[in-house]
Amino acid sequence: SSSATAGRGGQGVVNVLTSNLAPFTNPSEKDNRAAVVLTRGEGVYVYDTDGKKYLDGLAGLWSNALGNGNERIIEAAHAQLKRLAYQHTFWNRTTDIAEEYTSRLVDFGRHRGVVQTFMSCGGSDANDTNVKLAWYYWNAIGQPSRKTVIARKQAYHGVTITASSMSGMETIHKGYGPLPLPWVRHVSTPHYWKYGLPGESEEEYSARLAKELEAVIVREGPDTIAAFIAEPVMGAGGVIPPPRGYWGSIQSILRKYDILFIADEVVTAFGRLGERLGSEFYDIQPDLYTVAKAMSSSYYPLGAALITEKVADAIKNQANKFGVFGHGYTYGGHPVACAIGLECLNIYEEMQIWDHVKRMTPTFQLTLKQLETHPLVGEVRGEGFMLAIEFVADKASKSQIGTKVPPATILANECMKNGLLVRSTGHVLVIAPSLVYTMENFQEMFTKLKKSLDSFD
Ligand code: PLP
Repeated sequence: SSSATAGRGGQGVVNVLTSNLAPFTNPSEKDNRAAVVLTRGEGVYVYDTDGKKYLDGLAGLWSNALGNGNERIIEAAHAQLKRLAYQHTFWNRTTDIAEEYTSRLVDFGRHRGVVQTFMSCGGSDANDTNVKLAWYYWNAIGQPSRKTVIARKQAYHGVTITASSMSGMETIHKGYGPLPLPWVRHVSTPHYWKYGLPGESEEEYSARLAKELEAVIVREGPDTIAAFIAEPVMGAGGVIPPPRGYWGSIQSILRKYDILFIADEVVTAFGRLGERLGSEFYDIQPDLYTVAKAMSSSYYPLGAALITEKVADAIKNQANKFGVFGHGYTYGGHPVACAIGLECLNIYEEMQIWDHVKRMTPTFQLTLKQLETHPLVGEVRGEGFMLAIEFVADKASKSQIGTKVPPATILANECMKNGLLVRSTGHVLVIAPSLVYTMENFQEMFTKLKKSLDSFD
């Protein structure tokens, strides 16, 4: 079956041919690499070529919110494919399904000021769109010098050249020479446990970071700054919820200098923090939102920029300066993607999935917090259905474990052996379950995680 041919590594892990240059994977193994080959999914479980069953603790890539095999979504996709597989939304054409879905998306975000959408195929290209919207906005209202975007170290915004520039991770820049592009600045990651000073309260730490942001704005010149981009809870950078007071302090600086706020909600939108939007959870008032992932529960590539009135109005009122809005993806607003997105939204609304997440959050967060007593665990942190376990050699100094293979990678591999899929970012183990996880799913996850962690001793 498939390309899983070369020698078996046992435990469901096999060597696969490297026909596909695997994303975020070391390509130095010339002819094959060790990987688990998955063939089938059922709810929050997936199965490999040997029929071994895994509990998915990462919802695919924080994205498969409803799990696999949801008949309603499959039926919606099938019906749309039969009715109209493809037409675009350019010029004087659109489709009934794109019109219906985008108006529903606007309704979804209306209570947070959303009045328009721009459709993309995922998170990276939606972030590109949002940068273009920000630049277009400033050009439209006569402040064309505003081009710089301020992002944060450790942020993950995707991998197009724009999105990888804004991302604050070395792995994404290393190997490409000119990245990040010169119009990006990075400010500190708001990780209190790691970077708070002795005796400094969370609020004081947040105020210090707001001052840092202000210093960067003043140094660069406020009339050169277009936007600030941030994830409400930093995700791929290691699940870093903001310290108390952070978003309030940051937003007051942005308002003071009239800087647009792009909330990258690719992970947090559609319920992961127990609210429709992560911005709601922290009372963030962005001018632009980036959404993707759970938007289609990953049944199809789908993303969007959600545009608030201030930006939408400026674009509409000043558009004759530039004529057409010169931007658009062949597959933005794809009929099948829209049909799937619409059915997901229907299901989320019917289930009030954000309330389910809110109810289950204490069980998830507090149960896993118990792992902090482990001698090698420095911090267990998270919010909603996002969680990280950070490993240290020494709890007091928070120094990292110096083994060749980092501890979270060892643990993630151990979890996989024990039938649980999670993710390692080296010293941090990341967990982000599907939004439909039940109490039993959480119990199973905890048991498998604990068993895997115990093999460390
Ligand atoms: N923004 C955030 C916060 C993400 O977590 C991701 C993907 O993980 C992206 C953007 C990029 O999305 P995509 O991989 O769909 O391009």
